[in-house]
Amino acid sequence: MRHFRCTACGKCCVGWLPLTLKDALLHAGRFPLAVVWTPVRQAAKDFAATERLGFTFRTPDKKTVAVRVCPTAYIPPTMACPALTADNLCAIHGAKPLRCKTMPFFPYRDEGHQADLLVPRPGWDCDVSPSAPSVYDGKTIVDRTDFDAERAELLAQAPLIRPYAQRLMETAPAMASGLAKALLKPGGGHVAVSFASLLRHLPNEDRSRIAARQIGALTEASHRLGTESSWAEYRRNYQDWAWEMERLT
Ligand code: SF4
Ligand code: SF4
Repeated sequence: MRHFRCTACGKCCVGWLPLTLKDALLHAGRFPLAVVWTPVRQAAKDFAATERLGFTFRTPDKKTVAVRVCPTAYIPPTMACPALTADNLCAIHGAKPLRCKTMPFFPYRDEGHQADLLVPRPGWDCDVSPSAPSVYDGKTIVDRTDFDAERAELLAQAPLIRPYAQRLMETAPAMASGLAKALLKPGGGHVAVSFASLLRHLPNEDRSRIAARQIGALTEASHRLGTESSWAEYRRNYQDWAWEMERLT
């Protein structure tokens, strides 16, 4: 039996925040968004779950690769979430994304592959002592309400994500080579593309309104970066992605 309690230290509220598509659209005025593509090898234990929620492709050397395609609040790894208050609380607690509610579990993985996520990273103040609630029994999540809700959203959005991803693979040859390079990175790599590339494929959304809100979030995020040189790539991406969003307004 494994124990876990969030003490609301706010230390994990930094860097990338993977979102369901619904949460990304809901919070488009708050988070600078990207779509992060993460390739997973066929031999990896989360291949089947990734295939179910994302898509697969064949590399030139005939290997099958599954790809997680994840709308993401694209925040530099040491920068706080824009919803984190000065006293380390969540300003949108009542409406926070499903990803934050399900922490530390991660439904892009099978339920049985969650144990290592219960080990707090250095500096995190999660309570994993025996006095904290029992959250994981063997390979089963004890209270699975949030996990199931996030998994259900990911399953529901897969029929929208998959044709978008396949279309981008067909029209942007750099995606296949970028994913192949990402596969070679120790610990796993990724390819990040503009959220506009996905928004364009959502015919039932008010694209102009969402794009206008996203331009505000990207501009605000760019200001927060200041002139810090190590974040030059984020600054450049925010500017490029705001320009792509302009074309949707
Ligand atoms: S939305 Fe709230 S809980 Fe989620 S990362 Fe941001 S501050 Fe933390
Ligand atoms: S690091 Fe742990 S205790 Fe701190 S906010 Fe995140 S989940 Fe909660």
